[in-house]
Amino acid sequence: MNVIFHEDFYQTYTSDPAAEAGRMESIVSVLDGRVDFLRAEPAAEADIAAVHTDTHIHHVRAYGLYDLAALAAGATIQAAMIGLEDPAFALVRPPGHHASAGRSWGFCYFNNMAVAVAKLKREGRIERAFILDIDLHFGDGTVNILGSQDFATIVNPSASRASDYLRQVEEALPSEGVGLIAVSAGFDYGKGDWGGVLAPEDYREIGRMVQEAAIDCGAGCFAVLEGGYNHRVLGVNCLAFLEGLGDLPW
Ligand SMILES: [Zn+2]
Repeated sequence: MNVIFHEDFYQTYTSDPAAEAGRMESIVSVLDGRVDFLRAEPAAEADIAAVHTDTHIHHVRAYGLYDLAALAAGATIQAAMIGLEDPAFALVRPPGHHASAGRSWGFCYFNNMAVAVAKLKREGRIERAFILDIDLHFGDGTVNILGSQDFATIVNPSASRASDYLRQVEEALPSEGVGLIAVSAGFDYGKGDWGGVLAPEDYREIGRMVQEAAIDCGAGCFAVLEGGYNHRVLGVNCLAFLEGLGDLPW
């Protein structure tokens, strides 16, 4: 499994929980030796401007986070491109799913998912995309940007029991008709994290279901990191998900 990463993501760029010291290290230390790390490249400004307003881009630049946010978006584009052939994961921050076209909140700046999926669509690499957002929080930014586009279907499951959650994922995943299944992979629904619902085996099962759906559809698949804040369980949950998504031995 290819994991797109850059050492710049270790930066503690703000005081929010997504930017906390040690957060990326907690994932890298668990994935190390199990995956192939590829170096992230920044997104072109044109690819960001295709989904965000000039005013928003200006605000992110003025805030001093343009370069890091563009690197996260670029890593997600790389994961999406690779994902058309083999499952891939963009291990990035800042996260993106609360970034709308013209504003952002919730520790997000550019919508990494929307930048990547919109680029694949624009370039004719996919006809239709299915986006599964498994973060604890509703991905309002992704819905703002892609929700009104005919080519994208977006699902945000929500449940207080793991069995209900897994059933929602299973029922939502397509079996035909899409060229890409993309996962906004937040891990804050995890036990020990803010949501307290999903165990590592649940994340493994979600990954497995996504991979199976992608095979059924003849589609590519990739995931990008969103939330997840307890450094003691974040790496384990992330690895379990990738084991399911990418057929890693476990
Ligand atoms: Zn979240």
